[in-house]
Amino acid sequence: MAECNESTSCSTCGSEGSCSVDEKQKHEQELIDNKLKTIKHRIAVMSGKGGVGKTTVAVNLSVTLAKQGLRVGLMDVDIHGPNVPKMLGIESKKLEGSEAGGINPIEFLPNFKVVSMAFLLQDKDLPVVWRGPLKHSLIQQFVKDVNWGELDYLIIDLPPGTGDEPLSVAQVINDMDGSIIVTTPQDVALLDSRKSVTFSRQLKLPVVGIVENMSGLICPHCGEAIDLFKIGGGEKAARELGVPFLGRIPIDPEIVQDSDRGAPFVLSHPDSKAAKAFKEAVDKVQVFVEAAKGNSPQQAAQ
Ligand code: ADP
Repeated sequence: MAECNESTSCSTCGSEGSCSVDEKQKHEQELIDNKLKTIKHRIAVMSGKGGVGKTTVAVNLSVTLAKQGLRVGLMDVDIHGPNVPKMLGIESKKLEGSEAGGINPIEFLPNFKVVSMAFLLQDKDLPVVWRGPLKHSLIQQFVKDVNWGELDYLIIDLPPGTGDEPLSVAQVINDMDGSIIVTTPQDVALLDSRKSVTFSRQLKLPVVGIVENMSGLICPHCGEAIDLFKIGGGEKAARELGVPFLGRIPIDPEIVQDSDRGAPFVLSHPDSKAAKAFKEAVDKVQVFVEAAKGNSPQQAAQ
């Protein structure tokens, strides 16, 4: 078998035909592992069901990290409903190969790079009808063939639920730091969160914590919080499930407006309660991942 290095790919390797399926898979995984060496932290964002604001949280946590000067990659593996590009206002972009090889991710900021299925679709109105193996190979390509460069954080936006994509991500990306679980504040959140926590543990992903999104409405007139859907379900779930609680993101009508017009909320409303809540969640994430690697909170802040 040819020696694996970053510039070799199975499709261009002269001895490809002589490799067994097992050798080829091993080779692919070695290429992926090489690529991952330049990515310090890998975190998946998941939810038990759709519509709880998982993508909103993934986008705003990623932008909050990038605002601190960290090098961030956001990998949108919600293959059937890739909304990350729309929320960042970059949905008309297309992924292109670089002359030096590999695929260039889309740069939203110089230190914030994005890949998504949406950048590959010719017609965004047509549904993607793909089975597991195709999705698995796309996820492999999103790691192996994308020119991520050095990253402090790779955030992975998973589709809701417990389907193929999280399984593939856990298989392809070794040494994940863990998962962030997004839920809503109602009591049923406990049910959804329990499933996500159990699933995450089955995948051997440590749970970085639960984010309670849409927690109280910020009145656009007086700025006070109204408990529209109750509050506290996510926090209660975290307590009962024995995982960290990363905080509450209030409902803010500006989040909807910003998502629809493709402007990340934490950039356009940096002083809002919700942006502060995103920042607090990011601080906790940083402390968690550094502590897991045996570093102090001071090192996390550096
Ligand atoms: P999911 O990824 O879980 O399906 P999305 O992130 O696409 O959910 O969010 C669904 C809708 O809810 C979007 O219109 C988004 O703008 C809105 N949304 C998400 N979080 C909030 C929030 N905290 N306040 C107001 N609207 C929100």
